[in-house]
Amino acid sequence: MRDFSYLRANSLDAARRAAALPGAMLLAGGTTLIDLAKCGVAEPETLVDITHLEGLDKIEVSERGAIIGALARMGHVADHAGIRSRFPAVSEALWQAASAQIRNMATIGGNLMQRTRCPYFRDPANFSACNKREPGSGCSAIGGVTRGHAVLGTSDACIAMYPGDLAVALVAFGATVHLGERQVSVNDFFLLPGSTPNREHAIEPGEMITAIEIPGSAAARRSTYLKIRDRQSYEFAAASAAVGIEFEADGRTIRDLRVALGGVATKPWRAVEAALIGKVLEPDTVRAASLLAVEGAVDHGANHYKIELAPRVVARAILKMGETA
Ligand code: FAD
Ligand code: SF4
Repeated sequence: MRDFSYLRANSLDAARRAAALPGAMLLAGGTTLIDLAKCGVAEPETLVDITHLEGLDKIEVSERGAIIGALARMGHVADHAGIRSRFPAVSEALWQAASAQIRNMATIGGNLMQRTRCPYFRDPANFSACNKREPGSGCSAIGGVTRGHAVLGTSDACIAMYPGDLAVALVAFGATVHLGERQVSVNDFFLLPGSTPNREHAIEPGEMITAIEIPGSAAARRSTYLKIRDRQSYEFAAASAAVGIEFEADGRTIRDLRVALGGVATKPWRAVEAALIGKVLEPDTVRAASLLAVEGAVDHGANHYKIELAPRVVARAILKMGETA
């Protein structure tokens, strides 16, 4: 047991000031942080409890889009009538994440900040080499068991897969993270590992996620999230796709297409769109274009199956959206 201090923030400014202190970490639902503390990856000196900050759990949906407060619970967002009707892929991604108990505790801000599920990263007692945990120490996964690791966006330093579902849908629809006054696109918020896999998010000390904004669009309205996994619930994605589509007046030609992949890359991965916009939606055309989803993919043995699986997931999701035209 390591000692730590507990501080309950009563204003946004107080939370940010406390978060800037060395060794401080924000505590929201705790479903990631407590896990990481138990396995010795997170060693906070101060826990800054932000769950009592007022006004950060609002969910506002209008014609223009949605603004979701950082403290909104995953379960509430998944069930919100406006999110379900205007952003079905966002609701479905949340519904298929974790378990009901976790969704009722976990917040949207915490969800974006979740860490990789790489088993070597989460087991410091047995695997000292992990560049994400300890820069320069090496990577235990390369040459190890890689079934759950990424095939896209990897580097020589790290091949850990981005595990979340929500962010995949957010990237597809061009969402923005609000960090108080500063705003960053969700796509840029997640960093490629490169030579610094220890840095996963474009957030600075003392900054805090306050909200997520998703612009409204016809493609977001006609959207879905398809998640393939080893078991039907309570499991991370082997491969997933958030897809949104808008047709021309003929109901067959694709005017706008959004595709983002999960479960296969080191961050949510946008792909395929340009190859299909302006084309008539035909199964053969969609299947051929979906192969582009894994352009540049590199496997590490046991994760090779993802290179075959991901294009099938993308094609199935696009064709499903076509059926509803
Ligand atoms: P916390 O645990 O409180 O915090 C997580 C991290 O975010 C901490 O580092 C904390 O300091 C930081 N943080 C929290 N709030 C903010 C903020 N506003 N600004 C900046 N930093 C902040 N996720 C999926 O997407 N799909 C799954 O299938 C899935 N399965 C899971 C299964 C299990 C068994 C578990 C334990 C988790 C699973 N998750 C899954 C992850 C889950 O969604 C996250 O644990 C959850 O969303 C984290 O939210 P939280 O509020 O509990 O965050
Ligand atoms: Fe660590 Fe990344 Fe290697 Fe996993 S893949 S052991 S997180 S460096």
